[in-house]
Amino acid sequence: MDKISEGLKRLQEPGLPNREDLIALLSLEDEKELEPLFLAADALRKESVGNVVHLRGIVEFSNYCERNCLYCGLRQANRQLTRYRMTDREIVDAALAVKAANVATLVLQSGEDSFYDTEKLCRLIEKIKAETGLITTLSIGERPREDYQSFRDAGADRYLLKHETAVPSLYRRFHPDSRRENRLQCLKWLKELNYETGTGCMVGLPGQDNAALAEDILLIKSLDSDMAGIGPFLPHPQTPLAACPSGEVLPVLKMLALVRLACPTINMPATTALTVLHPEGRRKALAAGANVVMPDFTPPVYRRLYDLYPGRTADIEEPSAILKKLEEELNDCGRTLWK
Ligand code: SF4
Repeated sequence: MDKISEGLKRLQEPGLPNREDLIALLSLEDEKELEPLFLAADALRKESVGNVVHLRGIVEFSNYCERNCLYCGLRQANRQLTRYRMTDREIVDAALAVKAANVATLVLQSGEDSFYDTEKLCRLIEKIKAETGLITTLSIGERPREDYQSFRDAGADRYLLKHETAVPSLYRRFHPDSRRENRLQCLKWLKELNYETGTGCMVGLPGQDNAALAEDILLIKSLDSDMAGIGPFLPHPQTPLAACPSGEVLPVLKMLALVRLACPTINMPATTALTVLHPEGRRKALAAGANVVMPDFTPPVYRRLYDLYPGRTADIEEPSAILKKLEEELNDCGRTLWK
């Protein structure tokens, strides 16, 4: 057996993957050499989570943020961005649109915005659950454990909190006002509170090498994450990283494939950021281990202002158009939609 096949085999054994194997597989650049990796990830995806692609309808209800992550267009210091907060009625109506499209899961996302205190968010979750019955995912950043408990009691089912980068020095560099330890603590609380918990990382951050990406895979595995969002770094012009080069498609696909092999039953989206980087990004991600797509149900007037990274809002497609296109794409590659 050659070294690549040996590494792939070891990766699928129980326990934490071997760091050196991960680095060696991440270092492959040649398409021919990479073929066994992508084939193995796709086969394991089929065996572990099937051929269905799950949909999550996302509603970005506030683009206010009190943090200053260096890569993010929503950072507080970006004074050029027009800020918005959707009203409760607008949020519930957007959730009803998710339900009307027969999508079973809602993702409520915002910057870290303390305007939405625990009380406001709990009433909102209760209202959404009462009016739609949707599985409800929150993606609203770091909060105290008691808040996570209250949201859970109000009916929230899942929580997304990407760790972004597992390496302490990189984490410090890109997050001047948050601590890696606190983020990991939040992820542990969410697990303890029985949320289905998602994390994830960016690929292609300045200074992030294959050893750093291997740490991301090890962290996702050791947290026993139910979901992982993995997408490319895209430099936003109104951030301190404006002049840095973008992440690339291939390293993201390698990460998706390796996470699938290390965590067979994990749910992984084909991210919008990858589609921004490459028109075939979604199809490529779905062939490399991804099994989730997250159409955006934020009303267009707000969607164009949820400016996390450039290109994201350039071509705003209605969810119905995305779903139609997706169904066609999936038919072509033998996958089916699970709404
Ligand atoms: S990544 Fe999240 S917490 Fe950081 S600035 Fe952007 S929206 Fe705020």
